[in-house]
Amino acid sequence: MRHSSFLEVNFRLLSENMEKIRRLSGKAQIIPMVKADAYGNGMIPVTQFLVQEEKIKKIGVATLGEALKLSKECPDLDTEYIVFSDTEMSDSQHRSAYQDYNITPVIHQPEDLNHFLGDERLRDTPLILKLNTGMNRLGFTLQELQDGIPRLKNRGIQHLMTHFAYSYVTQKAGDKTSRQYEEFKKAQKLLSDSGVTVEETSVSNSGALEQKIGIEETYVRPGLMMCGPYSVEPRIWDGHQISKLVTKVIKTFPVKKGTPVGYGINVAGEDGFIAVLPVGYGDGVSTFFSGVKLTVNGLPCSIFARVNMDMCFLLFSPDAAGKIKTGDVVEIWNHDNRVITDIATQMKTIPYALMCGITGRIPRIYKIK
Ligand SMILES: *Cc1c(COP(=O)(O)O)cnc(C)c1O
Repeated sequence: MRHSSFLEVNFRLLSENMEKIRRLSGKAQIIPMVKADAYGNGMIPVTQFLVQEEKIKKIGVATLGEALKLSKECPDLDTEYIVFSDTEMSDSQHRSAYQDYNITPVIHQPEDLNHFLGDERLRDTPLILKLNTGMNRLGFTLQELQDGIPRLKNRGIQHLMTHFAYSYVTQKAGDKTSRQYEEFKKAQKLLSDSGVTVEETSVSNSGALEQKIGIEETYVRPGLMMCGPYSVEPRIWDGHQISKLVTKVIKTFPVKKGTPVGYGINVAGEDGFIAVLPVGYGDGVSTFFSGVKLTVNGLPCSIFARVNMDMCFLLFSPDAAGKIKTGDVVEIWNHDNRVITDIATQMKTIPYALMCGITGRIPRIYKIK
């Protein structure tokens, strides 16, 4: 086990986030999204915690492979897995997996509805249908829904859902989120007018839930906010970042203005003080971290020169000499959810991508307290 560098995931903080999410959600039940290895935090331990400690009854993933992994590796968990995007419905063998492992696909296009309704083995699998209300990625258009009505009438829809494209922006009357929601209501009316039953509904991801949009539906589907980062700016969600990315200084040295450091010819623009960290793009600290400003042990610094596969450099001002030493612990991000967002913003990306980018070379360490 590697000790210098790790991602520490704190379940007490996850639990506090879940409590806050419950308060935001009102009567709506929570379907936590744990796709992409629970946003890099570890899908299996996070799911075990959510089901065993937080009493979660439905878990959302993106791919059938993720659901199968959960179902096979956690045979004792009493929960349903829902596959939201890569359902692999066209393959007969894959379809039988749904029946065998208590997994439910989200039907998001007419071809898949044909496969779903045409397969006797899925007779008792609940029908979850996704609508395209304006995101224009997956989901039935209103027209496709209309065309499907004769067949939907017999089966009924267990859970009707849609996904917002713009929920990280504060909602205003008439904006994209509002229009998507109106479209969702229109589809519901179309279905009820045509005699198609809809038992349950959901619309909210984190950005929507932060603003309490969609909490009157049956479920909410938070992913990001559970892990800590906020979507809506200015910040409403003050959850904890459940992970912190920790590493350790392996070497320090002063540099004179004009000295090249590492690969290529990245020269120090001023005299400075360098700390070498044993993390690089092989760990998920991608080359785009170059230039990011951080605060380490209270001192401002930046990730300097090219990020290597196994290492990167922090550049401090010369007075860091004596204050930053070999063996010092460095938290690239910590449990304050503003830090990872600040880094992501500097990199012109989003916290999702930073968390999902942490590779398997970084051990995940779970703390309960
Ligand atoms: C990923 C996903 C979510 C969660 O989104 P966050 O922004 O991480 O909260 C919700 N619903 C669906 C369908 C998703 O694919």
